[in-house]
Amino acid sequence: MRKTKIIATLGPASDSPARLRELMRAGASVFRLNMSHAAPDWVRAVVPEIRAASSEVGCVAAVLMDLQGPSIRTGDLPEALELKVGDAFEFTLSGASAELPLSTSANYPGLAEDLSVDDIVLVDNGEIHLRVLATSPERVRCEVLTEGVMGSRRHINLPGIHVRLPGLTGKDRENVQLAAEVGVDFVALSFAREAEHVEELRRLIQAAGCGAQVVAKIEDQEAVRHLDEIISAADAVMVARGDLGIEVRIEELPIIQRRIVRKCIELRRRVIVATHMLESMVENPGPTRAEVTDVANAVYEEADAVMLSGETSVGAYPVACVEVLAKIAARNEVGGAGFAEGAKLRTHKQKTVRAAVALADSVPGCKLVVFTKRGILANLVSCLRPADAPVFAFTESDQVRRCLALSRSVTPFITTFGEDAEEAVERVFGSLKRAGLAQPGDPAVVLSDVFGGEFVQDSIHLRQIE
Ligand code: PGA
Ligand code: MN
Repeated sequence: MRKTKIIATLGPASDSPARLRELMRAGASVFRLNMSHAAPDWVRAVVPEIRAASSEVGCVAAVLMDLQGPSIRTGDLPEALELKVGDAFEFTLSGASAELPLSTSANYPGLAEDLSVDDIVLVDNGEIHLRVLATSPERVRCEVLTEGVMGSRRHINLPGIHVRLPGLTGKDRENVQLAAEVGVDFVALSFAREAEHVEELRRLIQAAGCGAQVVAKIEDQEAVRHLDEIISAADAVMVARGDLGIEVRIEELPIIQRRIVRKCIELRRRVIVATHMLESMVENPGPTRAEVTDVANAVYEEADAVMLSGETSVGAYPVACVEVLAKIAARNEVGGAGFAEGAKLRTHKQKTVRAAVALADSVPGCKLVVFTKRGILANLVSCLRPADAPVFAFTESDQVRRCLALSRSVTPFITTFGEDAEEAVERVFGSLKRAGLAQPGDPAVVLSDVFGGEFVQDSIHLRQIE
């Protein structure tokens, strides 16, 4: 059984009912809606399609709404500008008129205040490098360091600069209302730079009456500086390598990825490795050797999930991409980085769960069976990173089940707990056998936060599936 979960970003290449079913059969369990591109009506149409496909296929499928967050962009240009090394270029702010022939507006009025002379400004995913020559309240004048073509609405990155943008934009707030309306399972915040941004999103989600969990995307140096507090404030974290790879020196990226994954496991949060996992497969039917090794590295670090972006939203081979990820993951889930040994456990209950995971791992063929109300116990078991034992989680809530679709090693099911613990255990053993996931005689360790805690607090023991 594969432990690593697969997230597929949806778009024109993947939003039809037939394609959704194929992606699910291939192994995707979380579907990402990228609000930098998605229109509200598309979201209203596609979420019910995801739910329908998942019940047809008979698998679990969660929906992750990825908010655009506060991103700085160039404005609209009548035609693209050709920039040559040494050219003078300016950004105009707050509707100021152009003073130079090479000029574009930027959507962030605070740009001049946040920048100083000699700061580096990157445009269009780091393609164009500019150096600040002078700032005034209405304009930022720069020297062009690398030649390139400046188009409309290009991304502006300011590596290492403390930006005074708010945590969420007005558009993000509207999208949280939409998230509540359609009922998504996760909301991700792009460019989370401090814990307060994550907490603000959580408050908005709750005020909207939405049960979604919060994903913090680590995309710049400021977020890396505030790593521990951001991870602690979130339910899950994304290593957003697209922007991170522009905002930090590129050779730092693998070290930062490893640090984030390790920290998330230590602080018991789920972690996603994202962007360019199989980038060449946007156009090609197979991956490069380097991509296979990169995916395997994330698997070896024991991330909860790996994510596909353009590969599944606009690429030519969306289903093949999921199949390739599934194969690389399943083959390379051996050994592991051992980060779970550093998991910070405080309570008696948490330490007992660690003992239960160790017991299950020491018995060949052993299953971990978890009864979980809100998913907390199942996530604790997952983040202790059982080496061999699969985790079968049973909950009464559809939403809890869907949120567990992101958790490493966990296969979540719906059940009704009932009053009688023994009866519930026999019943879920029965459904595992019928699903071909367990055989009579298989050893199992059962954990529960449902039946008065007796499975967790008092004794851990090996049972046999009858
Ligand atoms: P994006 O975020 O695709 O929304 O930019 C992910 C990343 O930056 O890696
Ligand atoms: Mn990004």
